[in-house]
Amino acid sequence: MQPSLEKLRKFFRLEHENGYANTAIIGGLAEMLGYWEGEARADGIQEEVIQAVVQRLRSYDGLSPQSRADALRGLWKRIGDTYPEAQQKNRPHPPSGPGQPQPQTQNQPPVESSRTESPRPEQPRRSESVPPQNRGEYKPRPAPQGRSEHVPGARTSATPAALDAKLTVLQGVGPRHAETLAKLGLHTLGDLLYYYPRRYDDYSQLKPIKELFYGEQVTVIGTIQSVHTRPIRGGKASIVEIIISDGTGALRLSYFNQPWLANRFKQGDAISVSGKVDQYLGRLVMNSPDWESVEVESLHTNRIVPVYSLTERINQKWLRNVMRQVVEYWAPAVADALPESIRNSARVMPLGDALLQVHFPTSQDKLRAARERLAFDEIFYLQMGVLRQKRDWKSVDARHFSVSDEWLEARLTGLPFTLTSAQQTALSDIRADLDSGKPMNRLIQGDVGSGKTVVAALAAAMITSNGAQAAIMAPTSILAEQHYRSFTTLLKDLLKPEEIRLLVGDTPESEKEEIRAGLANNTIKIVIGTHAVIEGPVQFAELQLAVIDEQHRFGVEQRAELRSKGTSPHLLVMTATPIPRSLALTLYGDLDISAMTELPAGRQPVNTYVLRPQERERAFTLLRGQIKDGKQAFIIYPLIEESEKIEARAAVDDYETLSTEVFPDLKLGLLHGRMRPAEKDDVMFKFRDKAYNILVSTTVVEVGVDVPNATVMLIEGADRFGLAQLHQLRGRVGRGSDQSYCLLIPTHEDATENERLQAMSESTDGFFLAEKDLQIRGPGEFLGTRQSGYASSLRMASITDVKLIEKARTQAQKLFEQDPDLSQPENTLLAEALGRFWGEGKGDVS
Ligand code: ADP
Ligand code: MG
Repeated sequence: MQPSLEKLRKFFRLEHENGYANTAIIGGLAEMLGYWEGEARADGIQEEVIQAVVQRLRSYDGLSPQSRADALRGLWKRIGDTYPEAQQKNRPHPPSGPGQPQPQTQNQPPVESSRTESPRPEQPRRSESVPPQNRGEYKPRPAPQGRSEHVPGARTSATPAALDAKLTVLQGVGPRHAETLAKLGLHTLGDLLYYYPRRYDDYSQLKPIKELFYGEQVTVIGTIQSVHTRPIRGGKASIVEIIISDGTGALRLSYFNQPWLANRFKQGDAISVSGKVDQYLGRLVMNSPDWESVEVESLHTNRIVPVYSLTERINQKWLRNVMRQVVEYWAPAVADALPESIRNSARVMPLGDALLQVHFPTSQDKLRAARERLAFDEIFYLQMGVLRQKRDWKSVDARHFSVSDEWLEARLTGLPFTLTSAQQTALSDIRADLDSGKPMNRLIQGDVGSGKTVVAALAAAMITSNGAQAAIMAPTSILAEQHYRSFTTLLKDLLKPEEIRLLVGDTPESEKEEIRAGLANNTIKIVIGTHAVIEGPVQFAELQLAVIDEQHRFGVEQRAELRSKGTSPHLLVMTATPIPRSLALTLYGDLDISAMTELPAGRQPVNTYVLRPQERERAFTLLRGQIKDGKQAFIIYPLIEESEKIEARAAVDDYETLSTEVFPDLKLGLLHGRMRPAEKDDVMFKFRDKAYNILVSTTVVEVGVDVPNATVMLIEGADRFGLAQLHQLRGRVGRGSDQSYCLLIPTHEDATENERLQAMSESTDGFFLAEKDLQIRGPGEFLGTRQSGYASSLRMASITDVKLIEKARTQAQKLFEQDPDLSQPENTLLAEALGRFWGEGKGDVS
């Protein structure tokens, strides 16, 4: 173990033995920080770990002995997550409470034998009142898997430790039930508190069937009167018809061609159905509504009833009962980590109330307020973490890189074009960052075709002209190759060809060896490649700039890994996926952003048309005309199924038809995901060099490919693509000065009305389309590309809720300005909760 960690271990141990009186060090544990920080850095301890220690110990003195115990335990666990060896060594860390560790089972009620019909929980106890020897029953929380398991800010040391108790302490929950609940990720009482209902049945204001009207979207509840199956189309298909009634009237439900449903509906059962009210032969019906069975007795509860996700062997009613006992007793006892001042100024309800109301709402208004509070916390904690991370990044020093105005002037005049003002702004942002002495963390958010590559190349030049190295990582080898060519051309006055190298998976091993050697001895200045760039043995002599293109294609680990190849190198990430404002605020709050919204001069917006499948011939005519003028075209086929193999086959088939029947006189190339990288590259290069008139492809061309002579993008099955993807594909044309065309042909005629296709024909603005996409599809698409932890830590908050995001962000910023370390007493709980929310997560969220 590192000496600095060993030292911590000793002091923690001593502190434990002294009953957490803060006497292990004269003057208190915080006294050691002065020298410890330096020692830890010298030991090479991760900065985040150091910061965690500093944070905790700084506020240690203000904590109660119980909170101190929790704080040290949490801290040691945090250390153990990064340095497992620290944890193994003769289990030195503070045990689970101030007293002697107790066997797990002690003091637990004999659960199985003491079950009663109406389960009662143990009395809630404030932690202070619990005698130390009773604490042993509470197991320290199992190692969390990530932030997602925690509701932000909900748990602090002032929260009763009982919330960490296993579920079997509940009467009525035996080991078997506990096992079942564990499948839902529910292990402790606390987990239950934060197991939010999947939805609610609002029996307080059910809509009577009598009052339904045509076209309305509703949920109604009724009991099943009859179930009939009726053959149609001469027996080729069938319809299941169900009549439900709620005493005010009857409603017919019909399900087309799902004969098995007939057995699932039973006369007399109560079901809730949601859907659109339709009309058939003058009567109201619902066609294939969503349905769910409900308990008859709930019908008469007259209130909003939570509906939880279940697993085998437990039912709604049982779980609801368990929830009720936990929530009613424990929700009010949870410590609210959000300081009152923030609560008041954000006008959110106290946490305890929110937890109570989110499970058992007394009204729709209360439920809304509860959800808002819980969502607020999620965004607030995310923001606090992001702000802190930004500060942490800025807290280390980085090498200064400065270039003279003359130098820059010479670079710019050497370019084949004049930079747009957006490019110039981005470049001067970068120039300032590189000279700031702090690591750059900049995101260039530039629409497709806005010219990000040249900006990256100039950034790399600033680095290499000062003797250091740059690495550029792209998601595909086609793209890496393209960058390699652009870089060598753009930087030909500065670097010799052998100083810029391409490193992709396909690079022969001998050449890889040579490149690695060159990087290690600093004879290679720029390496461009795919993830091969960061693979194991690559070592850099002086990596000072890491550029990541199409960053949404990469995982967090890969970015962290690239960064780790240098000592606090400058980082530039680029994305052509425009991020809606609300998302950028939340997810990229830790990065400085340069938005490049302007396209190079002389570009004409791509004319976009949605065509009906029958109009395909028109599309082909346009395409022929362009080719006659010496232009080239893409024809894209959709992902037909979630299988690259099938997709590839479809593309192959269509390619055959197109080249033999439709365009026998033209040269067609084929590109799909099943081809080897070298084959793909070969086809791409041939297309670029005009050996093909048309490139038939699946979406592998989507990212970054730059062939300015191509003016037609024909997309088949366009309704199957997401908006962001369509926009990316369209971005492959319109890259020269000629008018370009994007032709969208959906699978079926009906789909010409498709919202996304309409949006595409309305606008070429990536930001507008991204907002639209977010509205249409929700945040999954965007979140999935960033860090899964984010997505899953937002269980309540909606990324589309700009208002809430801004509110939480404003509050977080205000607080961060006042008390960045959260060292003031009123923020102690918050500091702990924040540590809990972020501590276990990965540090790098770039
Ligand atoms: P993206 O931002 O999509 O990565 P690229 O960097 O690939 O865009 O640039 C798209 C095309 O525009 C390239 O052919 C590039 O040479 C060209 N380009 C970049 N900047 C300018 C400019 N200021 N004026 C004219 N053409 C430019
Ligand atoms: Mg690009």
